[in-house]
Amino acid sequence: MSGQINAFEMAQKQFDGVARLLNLDPQVAELLRWPMREYIFRIPVRMDDGSLRVFQGYRVQHNDARGPNKGGIRFHPAETLDTVRALATWMTWKCAVADIPLGGSKGGIIVDPSTLSVGEKERLCRGWVQKMWKNIGPRQDVPAPDVGTTPQMMGWMMDEYSKLVGVYTPGVFTGKPLGGGGSQGRTEATGYGVIYTVRETMKHLGIDPKKSVAAIEGFGNVSQYAAIGFIEMLGGKVACVSCWDRNNKTSYTYSHKEGVDPRFLLTIVDQYGTIDKKKAEAAGYVVEDGEKWIEKDCNVLIPAAIEGHVNDETVKKISKNIKIVAEGANGPCTPEADEYFKKNNIFDIPDFLCNAGGVTCSYFESVQNDANYYWPKEEVLQKLDQKMTTAFHGVLDMSLKQKVTMRDAAYMVAIDRVAKAMQLRGWI
Ligand code: GLU
Repeated sequence: MSGQINAFEMAQKQFDGVARLLNLDPQVAELLRWPMREYIFRIPVRMDDGSLRVFQGYRVQHNDARGPNKGGIRFHPAETLDTVRALATWMTWKCAVADIPLGGSKGGIIVDPSTLSVGEKERLCRGWVQKMWKNIGPRQDVPAPDVGTTPQMMGWMMDEYSKLVGVYTPGVFTGKPLGGGGSQGRTEATGYGVIYTVRETMKHLGIDPKKSVAAIEGFGNVSQYAAIGFIEMLGGKVACVSCWDRNNKTSYTYSHKEGVDPRFLLTIVDQYGTIDKKKAEAAGYVVEDGEKWIEKDCNVLIPAAIEGHVNDETVKKISKNIKIVAEGANGPCTPEADEYFKKNNIFDIPDFLCNAGGVTCSYFESVQNDANYYWPKEEVLQKLDQKMTTAFHGVLDMSLKQKVTMRDAAYMVAIDRVAKAMQLRGWI
């Protein structure tokens, strides 16, 4: 990540600040600022050319006081134990703030999935499960997709687990494909969830969504549906999206004079979030450097790519008109960026509140798996909106009452819930 501080140090720094504000018992704080369990393992995979390649895998379980651990698996070339620890920690706060009965975990493999064939990807997915199956399960730890992983991969992983335990167990992974144990609405859930929180923020600040313009970083699953939601649910305009171009090994910002049309871009993006540059240019898109998205003249900024991209350097470039930052990614804004937001009266919706729609829908998916009864899409999205709106207002009330930022307020709500569960279970 960019910036001087690594993601786990950042997660601990955020936590420590709120632990002080809450006057949290130092031993309780010590328990919460570290993950409970960490698994690091090697996964041998037979490649298509007959050679053997060994991959490094991780699973970190931060806290399961409120229920089974929950969190995605990232396939990323720059994965480290510390990024996985940070992301696992944020999952605990995310599930607690959304008030779903789950804990927090995260997994990863150091790999660029776009370099693997379909068969190699499947063997790698099955290999991850072969190393972890004894320590995951519907009542232990339930993984899901994240950066670099897809519903199809969750389908393979669920199948491998079911074979190893000898029982069809759809609830062990969420984010599975439709028809393979997946839930309606899961694909849209994280991006739409971001937009529900933006909608509530606009009501609170008295901003007209129809006169609003957003700059969005990334064009992966979260950004795609955040862009669609911003236009279709709020009536706003999207000035630009950015994306990592895996063919040219660089990132680009795509804008259009009439505003970005995400439904069109969806037809020319590959499964790794790389937009077809030639086709976009032919459709009138202006293609600029990947860093440009942050400078666009907008009132809403949605960083929805990867951690640390809004930092002490880049935050100074944001438009003077920015009123709302909606953190679609996990950990996109560093503590220095937070300082800037505070000074400039920018309303920041913190990651583990803003992007909680994905895991909330994952929770609905596991409930449907347990019941073996599947809900229609309208019902899923309506329940999702209700959960996100309630979570948002719980945090907003705390922020107004305690006169703290939305991030600190979200931590206060979440830490209080996790500490209460630990107390009820007799851990502290
Ligand atoms: N990876 C997503 C997140 O960071 C979803 C996790 C899940 O569904 O368990 O929230």
